Amino acid sequence: MKIKDLNSWPIENIKRPLIISGPCSAETKEQVLTTAKGIKAAGIQIFRAGIWKPRTRPNSFEGIGAQGLIWLQKVKAETGLLTATEVANARHVELALGAGVDILWIGARTTVNPFAVQEIADALRGKDIPILVKNPINPDLELWIGAIERLYAAGLTRIAAIHRGFSTYQKLKYRNDPQWQIPIELKRRLPQIPLFCDPSHITGDRNLLDEIAQKSMDLNYEGLIIESHCKPEEAWSDAKQQLTPQALQELLANLVLRNPEANNEVINNTLGELRHLIDDFDEKLLELLENRMQIAKTIGHYKKENNITVLQNKRWSEILEKSLIQGMKKGFSEQFVSNLFKAIHQESINQQEDIMNS
Ligand code: PEP
Ligand code: MN
Repeated sequence: MKIKDLNSWPIENIKRPLIISGPCSAETKEQVLTTAKGIKAAGIQIFRAGIWKPRTRPNSFEGIGAQGLIWLQKVKAETGLLTATEVANARHVELALGAGVDILWIGARTTVNPFAVQEIADALRGKDIPILVKNPINPDLELWIGAIERLYAAGLTRIAAIHRGFSTYQKLKYRNDPQWQIPIELKRRLPQIPLFCDPSHITGDRNLLDEIAQKSMDLNYEGLIIESHCKPEEAWSDAKQQLTPQALQELLANLVLRNPEANNEVINNTLGELRHLIDDFDEKLLELLENRMQIAKTIGHYKKENNITVLQNKRWSEILEKSLIQGMKKGFSEQFVSNLFKAIHQESINQQEDIMNS
């Protein structure tokens, strides 16, 4: 794929991070225009507003519909801001393009559905408008990449990705679990795709936006999409996560932007040496794991000869508890130690199963 970078978007003096901001939903003409003027004053060039809203439950505000597109035209005429909105089907595409919307995005609840994404791609065929693809609500990288591929196959080349976190059944600190390794893997698979972070939908809480925005900058994301509203507490959707354009300007001013690469030989040499050490340790880790697995396999043969099941729950609980205590004493998080040992244990089970079935 030859996806074009953000320099191909119709934006002046582009610099990292590229910001897209505006309300979750267009509600009234006044709310849209007042917020847009605040966004313009904050030095931002792209204004977002949801016109059709995919709400989890019925009887919530489901978007103002096509009349909001006229407000977006007014925003453009009065402020010169570029406008962006979400499309979820061919009709949305037709209306948004007809109204001169500059940038489109596909929402998380649409990316999960290949039929819907294909319908959007077909409606866009031959129109190379910039489009952003949110991650699907479930942590499935292939679906995310698949949506990007469908758009690319329809001739779109200015495609970016938005990381907005993943749904969980249990409530965690954030509204949507970031699972940072998924967008990192997306970037490894599609290095040319510009990546935006959506701290609003990740956190669900305006008081937590700054930590996620900063983290995404430290992970070298190219852009941020953040919801803002002239009166956030009164918003008709996502009221807890929106902030005023002024508060957004402050948040952006406080971001620390670090360089993706050093231009300095001494720094690069030092980093290079440290990375050699890491590579050595990675090799040793794999050797250790190989040795551990040899023992697990010996145990597997022994279990087979003596007709004992692969899994002994009590033994596994002991391993996990002991490792958690030791690992946390070494400063690792509980989640890391737990994930690590679960992965090691699962691999031992798989290999012992192979022995049982051989
Ligand atoms: C939105 O950006 O307002 C939106 C509906 O987001 P998501 O698709 O990430 O839930
Ligand atoms: Mn929203």
